[in-house]
Amino acid sequence: MKKILVTGGAGFIGSHLCTRLVNDGHYVICLDNLFTGRTENIAHLQALPNFEFVEHDVEIPYYRKEIDEIYNLACPASPVHYQYDAVKTIKTSVMGAINMLGLAKANGAKILQASTSEVYGDPTIHPQVESYWGNVNPIGIRSCYDEGKRCAETLFMDYHRQNHVRIKIIRIFNTYGPRMQSNDGRVISNFVVQALKNQDITIYGTGNQTRSFQYIDDLIEAIVRTMATEDQFIGPINLGNPNEFTILELAQKVIELTGSQSKLVFKPLPHDDPKQRQPDITLAKETLNWEPRIQLEEGLKQMIEFFKDFRVK
Ligand code: NAD
Ligand code: UDP
Repeated sequence: MKKILVTGGAGFIGSHLCTRLVNDGHYVICLDNLFTGRTENIAHLQALPNFEFVEHDVEIPYYRKEIDEIYNLACPASPVHYQYDAVKTIKTSVMGAINMLGLAKANGAKILQASTSEVYGDPTIHPQVESYWGNVNPIGIRSCYDEGKRCAETLFMDYHRQNHVRIKIIRIFNTYGPRMQSNDGRVISNFVVQALKNQDITIYGTGNQTRSFQYIDDLIEAIVRTMATEDQFIGPINLGNPNEFTILELAQKVIELTGSQSKLVFKPLPHDDPKQRQPDITLAKETLNWEPRIQLEEGLKQMIEFFKDFRVK
């Protein structure tokens, strides 16, 4: 049994990760300030002897002994949420990384950073490989998130080179699944909720921009496998599903699967919205012996059931 800290553990991805680690028999400490996370997401874990919830902001140092592994996920991930308080978002990424790297150093723990495909910005190469340095606007409305995550990667590399902290950097591509909030603002939750309510489906821009959507269960498997790699493997490693769709194709699929009466409406494209995104997952396939199993249609059906049951009345 390892003692594992998960920051952002009450959020969408974090709550699935805590569940997996608890089920694997580890002692899990979930650290979260509940900005976008909810205790409801971890309610099924709260009574278990190998789970502990600590309400804490990662901008503030956290001291604890005998930690074996840290998964650093704390950071709002939806554009709506990370732009709500941009200064806090960048502080969360940068100060959160410093505080958690310090904790890893003090404990001799292994630490994994949840980085993002956003480090590639609006990419000029396609699909995106880990060796690509990206095309990121440093002064735009997405910069608090993109540059915060890029700086966190830098800090991870420097703590590794300078202090020999054992690190792993994963770059997560668009991921969806149950426990996303209905007002999360990201495209799949928006479209599914709108379709179930027969409301207009909001396409930003022409809808010809692309994304590649990964189902949560595939991501959790890949995260756990990455943490288990040999110490010399540090990443960065892309984790995503390479099947690419336009936003219009996604909207049509959601309408078809829900049998909705919704109509498409076109809204302005937000600033710096990337035109295309698709992970090259050669490294993940080779290193983790992993590839995504759940394709969009199957994953969307799970999302639709989730929102039907719990969110949309
Ligand atoms: P989420 O918003 O559901 O979860 C983020 C969690 O972090 C929430 O529980 C929130 O309360 C917590 N948090 C935020 N600021 C905090 C702070 N200062 N101190 C402590 N806790 C704080 O988002 P998610 O989709 O679960 O994303 C989790 C991580 O994965 C994030 O780091 C995100 O950048 C990364 N990621 C997600 C995606 C995706 O598609 N979901 C893609 C790329 C990267
Ligand atoms: N999007 C959209 N309608 C929505 C929400 C998002 O057309 O209601 C678009 C958005 O402009 C982007 C894509 O869907 O091109 C993915 O957006 P999301 O916020 O999910 O993730 P990100 O842009 O961070 O990849």
